[in-house]
Amino acid sequence: MGLTESRSTAQKSASLLRLRGPLASDPSARILNAQLLGLLCWVALQYAVFLPFFAVRKPAAAALATLLAVSYLTSLALLRSGRLRGAELSYLLPTWIVATILIYGSGGIHSPALVFYAALPISVAWLLGYRGALAGTILCLATSLVMVIVEVLGVPPPRYFSANPWPAWFVLLFAILIAALPVIAVLRALNESLALSRHQLEELHRAQEALRAERDLVSGIMETSPAGIVAFNRDGDITFTNAAGESILGLSRTDAVKRSYNSPEWRLTTFDGGAVTDENLAFARVRSSLRTVQDVCFALEQPGGRRVLLSVNAAPVFTGGGEFGGAVASIQDVTERRNVEAELVHYREHLEELVRQRTAELVQARDAALAANHAKSLFLANMSHELRTPLNAILGFASLMSDAPDTPDTQRGQLQIVTRCGEHLLELINEVLETAKIEAGGLSADNAPFDLDGLVMEIADMIRVRAAEKGLQLSLQKAPGVPSVITADAAKLRQILINLMGNAVKFTERGGIDLRLDSHTSGNMCMLTIEVADTGIGIASADQERIFQPFVQAGKTLTEGGTGLGLAICRQYAGIMGGSLGLESAPGKGSRFRVTLPVQLAGPADVRAHDAGSQPVIAIEPGEPEYRVLVVEDKIENWMLLERLLRGAGFQVRLAPDGAAAVSEFQAWHPHFIWMDWRLPVMDGREATKRIRALPGGRDVKIAAVTASVFDEERSAILSAGVDDFVRKPFRSSEIFDCMERHLGVKYVRGNRTAASPLLPLPVLSAELLQALPEELRADLANAVLHTDISRVTAAISRISEGHPILGAVLASHAARLAFTPILQAIRPPADTVRGNS
Ligand code: ADP
Repeated sequence: MGLTESRSTAQKSASLLRLRGPLASDPSARILNAQLLGLLCWVALQYAVFLPFFAVRKPAAAALATLLAVSYLTSLALLRSGRLRGAELSYLLPTWIVATILIYGSGGIHSPALVFYAALPISVAWLLGYRGALAGTILCLATSLVMVIVEVLGVPPPRYFSANPWPAWFVLLFAILIAALPVIAVLRALNESLALSRHQLEELHRAQEALRAERDLVSGIMETSPAGIVAFNRDGDITFTNAAGESILGLSRTDAVKRSYNSPEWRLTTFDGGAVTDENLAFARVRSSLRTVQDVCFALEQPGGRRVLLSVNAAPVFTGGGEFGGAVASIQDVTERRNVEAELVHYREHLEELVRQRTAELVQARDAALAANHAKSLFLANMSHELRTPLNAILGFASLMSDAPDTPDTQRGQLQIVTRCGEHLLELINEVLETAKIEAGGLSADNAPFDLDGLVMEIADMIRVRAAEKGLQLSLQKAPGVPSVITADAAKLRQILINLMGNAVKFTERGGIDLRLDSHTSGNMCMLTIEVADTGIGIASADQERIFQPFVQAGKTLTEGGTGLGLAICRQYAGIMGGSLGLESAPGKGSRFRVTLPVQLAGPADVRAHDAGSQPVIAIEPGEPEYRVLVVEDKIENWMLLERLLRGAGFQVRLAPDGAAAVSEFQAWHPHFIWMDWRLPVMDGREATKRIRALPGGRDVKIAAVTASVFDEERSAILSAGVDDFVRKPFRSSEIFDCMERHLGVKYVRGNRTAASPLLPLPVLSAELLQALPEELRADLANAVLHTDISRVTAAISRISEGHPILGAVLASHAARLAFTPILQAIRPPADTVRGNS
C-alpha cells in the first residue's frame, strides 16, 4: 500500500469520525463526539486487553463492556441525528451505572474506581450545567455513602477484579477520558467568556467616557442656553434648572429645587393680570395630556417682585415602565419682546391714526382745491358770460353798421376801430380763458388753408404803429421758397406772432425788430421757421426757461405790465400744432424767438374754396318757404342784434324775453326755429327747451342754444338737454346763418353787401306805432328822453320791449344813436306839442 493510498484512507476514516448532521457546528456536540469515540476505543481496549487478562468474572465484565459500547454507539447515533440532550443522557446514565458496578465490584469505598465519582460530575456539569452537576455530585456522594454504610453494617464488597495494578490503571484511564475533555472544554469556555468580559469591560469604559463627554456637552449647552430649562418630577417639583432658569425664576437652583411648579413663592397670573388655571400652566397641561405643549404663556412675579412674561414649551418624561415620570420645560422670558410688540402696536395704531388724520387733511385740501377749481371755473364762466355778452352787441352792431350801405365812410373807419378794439378786448379775455382751457387740457389744432403772407402783413401792420412810436425799425424778411398759402391753425399762429412781436416792441428801446420767415419743403409738407429777433434788453440765461411758464415774468419787466401768460400760451400752441418755440438771448443784446412748425402746402384756390362758405349772407334765396324764427333773449341789445340779422335776411322773427314767454310763444306761433339763450330770467333755456320738447310739435322744432360759456364740458351738457345745436357768444353772423342752414336746409344768396342789397329796414318810428303803448309807458319814456338820461331811456325801452319787442327794437336803434328827437316826436306829435305848449 502506497503512501498516498494510506493518506486517503486516513482522510476517509477521519471524515467518517467527524461529527455530521445538524449539530456539526455545535462545539459541545463536537467534543462529546470526540469523547464518545475515545471511550469506544477504551471499550475496545477492554475487550482486547482487560477482559482476557484481568477480569475474574469474564462474562459479567463483557456484559458491562457491551452495555457501554451499545450506549456510546446510541449516543453517537443520537448526536448525528441532532438530538443532543438524548445523546448526553444515553452517555451519562449507562456510564454512571457501569461506574457504580465497577466501584462496588472492585472494593466499594476502597475501590480505585471511586475516581469515577469525581470525574462524572465534571462531565455532567459540562453537559447539563451546574444544576445537573449538583444532582450528579449528590447522586455520586449518596451512592458512595450507601457503600460505606453497607460496609459498616458488615457486608464487605465483592472483588471481581484481580489485584493486578493494571486494572486500576485502566480505571484511571477511563476516569480521565470521562473528565479530561469536559475540563478542557469548560476551561476553554471560561477563557472565552473571560476574554469576552474583558472586551465588554473595555467597551463599557469607552461608553462611559462618551457618556461623560456627552453629559458635559449637554450641561454646557444647558448652562449657556438663553432659555430657562427646568425639569420637574411627577409631582411637579423642580428637580433641575439651568442658569437662565435661575434668573427667570428669581431663585438660585438650590432654592428652586424641590419647589413646586405652582409654588406660592411665585405669583402666577395671565399676561393681563388675571388668575391662572391649569390651562395656563405648562406642567399641568403636560401632566393631564401626556403630550408636548407649546407657547403656553403666563406671567411670573419673582420673589424679589420683578414680573416676567413667559412663554413655555414642555414635554413629558416617561419612566422605563412607560409611566409619567415628570416633565422638561424650556422657558423663554418674552417680557422685552412683548413690550416691543406692544410698543409697535401702539406705534402702528398711532401711525394709522396719523395716516387717517393726514388723509382727512388731504381730503379736505383736495375738496378745498376742487371747490376752488370749481369756483374758478364758475368765475371764468361768469366772467366770460359777463364780458362776452356786451362784446357780442358791440362787435355785432359795429359790423352791422359798417356793413350798412348808408353809413358814411368816415364813420365806417371809426366803426372798424371799434371793431378792432372790441376784438382786441375779446382776445385778452380769450387769453385768460385759453390758459384755463389749456390747463384743463383738450385743445387741438384747427387746421384750414390760409394766406400766410396776408397774416404776416396784417401783424406787421398792427405792430408797425407801436414800433414807430418808439422809434424802432421793423423789417420783414421772407426767404425765397417760403409758401404764401399753407394749411395750419391760422388763429393760433396769429396769436403766437402777435405775442412775440408785441413783446419785442415792449422790451426794446433802441434798434429794431426783425421778422424772418424761412422754410424747408419736402413734397406736400413744409417745415416753417419764423423768427422774431429784437435788439432789446435780452433775457438772463437763468430766466430763459422760466418765462415759458404761466405767470412768470423776468427781471425789471414787471414794470412793463402784462400777465406773464403770453409765452406759456405760445409754447402750448406751438406744441398743439406739432411744432416748438425756442429762444436765444443775451442780456443787453437782444432776444431771438424761433417758432418751428410743420405745415401743409396749399394753393390760393384752397383759400377761396375755404372762404366761399363764409361770404356774408345777403338774403334767403327767392322761392324758399317763409321761416318763423323765435328769438329767446333777455338782453335788449342782443335780441335786437339777432332780430336785425334774421329779419334783414328775410326770416319772420318774434321775440321772447324769458323761457316762460318762449313756451307760450311756441304754442301760439309754432316757429320753425328757436334761438334759445341759456341764461334767462323766470325760466332758463334748459327748462324752456324741456317744456317745448314735451309739447305737441315740440320734437320737430329746431332749437339752437346761445351761450357765453367757453367750456366744452358745458357744451355737451347743453346738447344733452335736447337742443339741436349750439352757438357761442360773441357769435359771427355767419355762424348764425350757417347753423340755420344746417338744420332748416334754408338756402341763401351770399356775396358782399352793396347799396343794391340793403338790409331789410325796421318799421319807421311813428306816432301810430307808439299808439299801441299804454299811457304810463309812453310817459315814462317821454320823461327819460326829455331828461336825456340814457340809463332811464334804456330801462324804459327794455320795459316796452317786454310787451312790444318790435317797437322796442325800433326805439333801441334810435336810442343807440342818441336820436332822441324822433322818439320824442313820435310820443308827442307836433300838434300835441303845440297844444301842450300853448
Ligand atoms: P407778459 O409779456 O405778459 O409779461 P409773456 O409770457 O409774453 O408775458 O412774457 C413773459 C416774460 O418774458 C416777460 O415778462 C419778459 O420778462 C420776458 N420776455 C418776453 N419776451 C421778451 C423779449 N423780447 N425781450 C425781453 N424779455 C422778454
